[in-house]
Amino acid sequence: TKYVYDFAEGDRSQKDLLGGKGANLAEMTKLGLPVPPGFTITTEACRAYLTNGAEPAELSSQISDAMAAVEQAMGKQLGDPADPLLVSVRSGAKFSMPGMMETVLNIGLNDQSVAGLTAQSGDDRFAWDSYRRLIQMFGKTVSEVPGEAFEHALDGAKAAKGTKNDLDLDAADLRAIVDAYKKIYSEHVGHDFPQDPREQLEMAVRAVFNSWNAERAVLYRRQERIPAELGTAVNVQTMVFGNLGADSGTGVAFTRDPGTGAQGVYGDYLSNAQGEDVVAGIRNTVPLQDLEQLDKASYDQLMSIMAKLEGHYQDLCDIEFTIERGKLWMLQTRVGKRTAAAAFIIATQLVDEGVIDLDEALQRVNGAQLAQLMFPHFDLSGNPTHLANGLSASPGAAVGKAVFDSGRATEQAAAGQKVILVRKETTPDDLPGMIAAEGILTSRGGKTSHAAVVARGMGKTCVCGAEALDVDIAGQKFTTDGQTINEGDVISIDGSTGKVYLGEIPVQPSPVVQYFEGTVAADADTLVAAVHRLISHADGARKLGVRTNADTGEDASRARRFGAEGIGLCRTEHMFLGDRRELVERLILADTEQEQEQALAALLPLQRGDFVEIFEAMDGQPVTVRLIDPPLHEFLPPLEELAVRVALAQERGQDPGRDKTLLAAVHRMHEQNPMLGLRGVRLGLVIPGLFDMQVRAIAEAAVERIKAGGDPKAEIMVPLVGAVQELETVRQEAEAVLKDVAERSGVDVPALIGTMIEVPRAALTAGQIAEAAEFFSFGTNDLTQMGWGFSRDDVEGAFFGRYLEQGIFGVSPFETIDADGIGRMVKIAVAEGRAARPDLKIGVCGEHGGDPESVHFFHHAGLDYVSCSPFRVPVARLEAGRAAG
Ligand code: ADP
Ligand code: MG
Ligand code: MG
Repeated sequence: TKYVYDFAEGDRSQKDLLGGKGANLAEMTKLGLPVPPGFTITTEACRAYLTNGAEPAELSSQISDAMAAVEQAMGKQLGDPADPLLVSVRSGAKFSMPGMMETVLNIGLNDQSVAGLTAQSGDDRFAWDSYRRLIQMFGKTVSEVPGEAFEHALDGAKAAKGTKNDLDLDAADLRAIVDAYKKIYSEHVGHDFPQDPREQLEMAVRAVFNSWNAERAVLYRRQERIPAELGTAVNVQTMVFGNLGADSGTGVAFTRDPGTGAQGVYGDYLSNAQGEDVVAGIRNTVPLQDLEQLDKASYDQLMSIMAKLEGHYQDLCDIEFTIERGKLWMLQTRVGKRTAAAAFIIATQLVDEGVIDLDEALQRVNGAQLAQLMFPHFDLSGNPTHLANGLSASPGAAVGKAVFDSGRATEQAAAGQKVILVRKETTPDDLPGMIAAEGILTSRGGKTSHAAVVARGMGKTCVCGAEALDVDIAGQKFTTDGQTINEGDVISIDGSTGKVYLGEIPVQPSPVVQYFEGTVAADADTLVAAVHRLISHADGARKLGVRTNADTGEDASRARRFGAEGIGLCRTEHMFLGDRRELVERLILADTEQEQEQALAALLPLQRGDFVEIFEAMDGQPVTVRLIDPPLHEFLPPLEELAVRVALAQERGQDPGRDKTLLAAVHRMHEQNPMLGLRGVRLGLVIPGLFDMQVRAIAEAAVERIKAGGDPKAEIMVPLVGAVQELETVRQEAEAVLKDVAERSGVDVPALIGTMIEVPRAALTAGQIAEAAEFFSFGTNDLTQMGWGFSRDDVEGAFFGRYLEQGIFGVSPFETIDADGIGRMVKIAVAEGRAARPDLKIGVCGEHGGDPESVHFFHHAGLDYVSCSPFRVPVARLEAGRAAG
């Protein structure tokens, strides 16, 4: 097996094998750019090492051959005492990954070759500084010597000299530091710092392999859903030196501003320094523009290389470079990370520059970025006090008074206060407080902690794992950096950046939402213009329709402004709440048929009014109304509450009256598993007249709209069907009602009758069910719940955190459709349903309808539309367009 590739052999398509850094070093070499020679040890070698606990047998000789080629190109030998070739060993996985081993520079230096380096460079300070850097980096990253031990020694030497600047240390000082470092090394490691250059190299390579399984790297992979078996590549590269005097230096640059996408010169430069100094922030960098004054030739060459790279990659690139005595070297490039706003702007800029077309531009952005742009942001122009950094667990900008327990949060919220719930970590007991709070802040836990998972599920702003916070629950306060925040103090948390601020920061609405709302023009600014262009292109490309889930005229209108092409799910149970609850109670408590009819008759006009409003808001577009779905006891007061009321009344010698009847009803209707109980179509079949009343309300509302010149398009949807017989029965009754309304009003009511597919049996008998259904709508929430056999109201706090941690799923199946299992049922139902009824309309109305990955799945499954909450409509439009591209 070939485990080693010279930079001249590979290219950028080989990221799997060579890692991102190696593939791009090879690509730059191929482009003829000045890249210091070197080679890449493949991820395959790493995988073999990690599986077998030892390097593959051929690796050592392949490294020797590759090293010999580099030595020949450079005319120097690795670690040659007279004129040493030095190399860096750089990790580089397919995806860039914090927590992995860092780079070791200056491999090949030892007690002898340091003299050769002095002679060749004519700079003994430089040579000894390079040697001390090697021992420090090698000690820390390869041999796990605590970094402070070295830093302490270095600081001591600087203090003795009365300086804080490394550059004030002369060759003799650095030589003494090397001696001290060697001592530190042998004390911690138990043997001396290795003098053999080849041994240094092999130890460093092995350390990079091992770092793949470092704790932080493992954690990061789980969170980012990077497969654990990829392994990392290792790059071995000839050293070039930015620390050889004023005509040397090192820097980083972007071909465009990664924050805004604006074109120009963006980067930082540090003269007389090695790359690590830039990151360490030891000295202040200067803006890259200043390089033009310092070294015009290198600056011009860099500008032309950056233009070439951007042209070649057809995208924003970031680069690392070093100048050694006036000669420019390229050390790294990659397609650069960027903010969500910059992603949209850059994609359309590149179209305008003729670099890519709109189809490609659409692939360069995604729904998650668009969703991010739709959250409000803090206006930070007032320079607020920054308290701490945590993880961006659930986006948004929340402001409120700090409270430290769930009970206080609910109390204060009930009293009209805006609160931020602050905890060390949250448990299911905190749920009421989390619901009541504007946002949630924790000092512990990662992006899969309880707080994070639950907050994302609720769409609530959350910052978690802000470790700098010392949270004192008993004392109702937290401290950070010497500041104490007590209950009632106002804080602001930014779930998109993870930042925590003191005080109330003004919140800016998103210009993108304002554009969708129609209050800001499509050419208002570059970002809005870019979003407008790409989403319009997506609309032209997509095959999937996008509808919304909406229960009110107001939601329907908003969703329509956001681009919804109808309602995919109008839940009717929300129409039974509030003042109307009493009517539902009457219906449930009715002893006689007559009482029942009266209760239904009272509900009818109210329902009709709701539908008129919704049909009006969605005029001309389909509106799928789901007949009542939840168990009826959800409309009655909770058992405990009733029991207490009745007991109290009896104790006081009063008549509990209606409460007693209600309590009896609640007892009677109690179910062990209500979600699998009397609900949906079962309710319709057991309580005569209930569905009829709803169908009548829909039909009469449609008639009213038609008479007013409107164009209502009703689709009546029966929930929880498992067998075609259930649907047949409901269908016959509904058709009778439609006919009756048509006869009485003299207006023909256009309405389709269809069903949800949410019980696994329905999916598996879709061919039969399609005989009675004019449309299907997948209720993927229930289908997931019943297909996996876990209750979605209970799992999040109970065990999903653990499942995610252990990688049983990469993401909750309630968030992204489980394509293998639940998705398989969807595919079966689509195929068998369409076979039975070719013009069957098929959509999806679960939460998955607005999830980017799931939208792609539904596109490929051949659905006609997805339906999602109003705010997800633009995301679904964009992703549906991308899926079709
Ligand atoms: P990271 O992945 O953390 O960016 P790199 O492998 O890019 O790590 O190395 C970090 C820095 O080390 C580089 O930016 C560069 O400044 C320096 N470096 C690495 N290899 C060399 C080399 N061969 N010559 C000079 N400097 C190097
Ligand atoms: Mg780098
Ligand atoms: Mg359901």
